[in-house]
Amino acid sequence: MRLTGLGVSPGIGIGKALLLKRGAPELRFRVPTSMVPREIERLTRARERSREQLQQIRDRIARSAGAEHAYMFDAQLLMLDDAMLIDRAVEIIRSEQLNAGSAVERAFREIAALFDRADDAYLRERQGDVGDVVGRLCMNLRTARHSLEFFRNLEGPLVLVADELTPSTVAQLDWQCFAAFVTDAGSWTYHTAILARSMHIPAVAGLRNASQVITPGMLLAVDGATGDVFIDPDPSVLEQLRARQEQRAELEHALDQYRRLPAVTEDGVRIRLEANVESPDDARRARESGAEGVGLFRSEFLLAGRGHEALGEDAQFEAYTRLVESMAPGRVTIRTFDVSEGQLPVDALVPDGARAPLGLRGIRLSLAREDMFQAQLRALLRAASHGPLRIMFPFVSGVEQLRAARAAVQRAAETLRARGDQVPPVPVGVMIEVPSAAVTADLLADDADFFSIGTNDLIQYYLAVDRTDDRVSDLYEPLHPAIVRTLRLIARAARRRSIPLAVCGEMAADPIVLALLVGLGVTEFSMAPTAIPLANQALRGLRARDAETLAARTLRARTAAEVEELLTTFVAAHNSNALKF
Ligand code: PEP
Ligand code: MG
Repeated sequence: MRLTGLGVSPGIGIGKALLLKRGAPELRFRVPTSMVPREIERLTRARERSREQLQQIRDRIARSAGAEHAYMFDAQLLMLDDAMLIDRAVEIIRSEQLNAGSAVERAFREIAALFDRADDAYLRERQGDVGDVVGRLCMNLRTARHSLEFFRNLEGPLVLVADELTPSTVAQLDWQCFAAFVTDAGSWTYHTAILARSMHIPAVAGLRNASQVITPGMLLAVDGATGDVFIDPDPSVLEQLRARQEQRAELEHALDQYRRLPAVTEDGVRIRLEANVESPDDARRARESGAEGVGLFRSEFLLAGRGHEALGEDAQFEAYTRLVESMAPGRVTIRTFDVSEGQLPVDALVPDGARAPLGLRGIRLSLAREDMFQAQLRALLRAASHGPLRIMFPFVSGVEQLRAARAAVQRAAETLRARGDQVPPVPVGVMIEVPSAAVTADLLADDADFFSIGTNDLIQYYLAVDRTDDRVSDLYEPLHPAIVRTLRLIARAARRRSIPLAVCGEMAADPIVLALLVGLGVTEFSMAPTAIPLANQALRGLRARDAETLAARTLRARTAAEVEELLTTFVAAHNSNALKF
């Protein structure tokens, strides 16, 4: 059987399915023998937490409503000691090597079957109480701090199958065990897809019902280029996919030389290629891909799966310094947190909330939370003493916001100076990703030291198409004439005010689109490290002069399809290399 979605991270991954369903009652997967004692330990801890919670609830109810109403919690407390529930779950963990949550649910189903057969109405009603206790146990198994720890040290290779997969979850997984992931939701600019590409993990998104069709343990073969997911594939299909895997490795090998060559067009225009990274530890990989610097560090990934301590000045200073030092002498552009309130660390909870796309997010949230913003700015300014660093603000919609953010940088600098710290000059720039910022780029340019165009958001807000919703992904058109015109507008504004301009959205990673961007006058790009050698190959075969003529022509096109046609014809005629991959 074959499912087809959107290939969002190329490569072939083959492994056994592991299911992660956010809406489902409990994750179900097998654990290796060595992990059985840990699952039992987790269950014991969840039982103790459940006991404490139930005792508190019982006492509160007894105080407020009288002892006679508290009896049902006494009954629930007794159930926590019932051999049919806990002992049976432990037995299931041992004998079937199932994770604790699904073992508890299985034990519950067995008890429920007994209750169903009972004639006694009272007994049948007690089934609801057992269900309540089981729900509490599962909740405590899930929300225990670092609950994703149990995803570590699994026996791979596995393919993660999820209805939805948040970047903070992906950031915590041990990717040594996973050959690929597939999701029901998502699209090319889904943050999790961006992460997959930067981590070189094949991925398919937008499958809609994969998490319903696939059951744990099934063999899956994932083609992240075509978007195909083969379920229990025939040996012949597996053989073909393995051959493609080898072919891809050969192509990548052929691109190797471009990691070391400078990025320059055939007619001598110097281009700056930098990397988008999500962790300070990615700097090495960025350098190995040929990146001159980090053009976008998504600092909010420092918060993934961590508690409040991640927001502290010293913890951030340590992370930024590590990044800056490992990239030096290359420069690093750090974007301040681009999260919404629901994604900030809350003790004992993983900040997994979906982005509130148009709410208190990005710079809006930073400006509303002065203490948090100041701690981040102080950490950034201190790290700037360790190597070239630029500060960049996300989701800015106009001049006043940018000025307010710059004033906050001044305040942070003054605090540091008052403490006796040195504060080097740090360029402060802005992401152009909100339509109002794009249209007023000429005004913003007076207050910004640099621009970086975030095409992922810019496109979705210009075209009013949710970038994570697969049902409208065909309307997400990076080459829409509105986008091409806007890019020209921003490029002109930056050129007239002589400020550096980069493109850091996913659009930059497409070699065909690169010709257009160079033609519009963009000479700095930041992209996933894995995309850099291919981009360099395309640039070295491109004449900037010809690209300018091409850009002028695309500005007259009426549809995205016409723009695309112009670009593919151009690249085929001028730079056949870029089409080979
Ligand atoms: C963008 O919006 O283009 C961008 C680079 O930022 P993010 O993908 O993190 O929103
Ligand atoms: Mg963005």
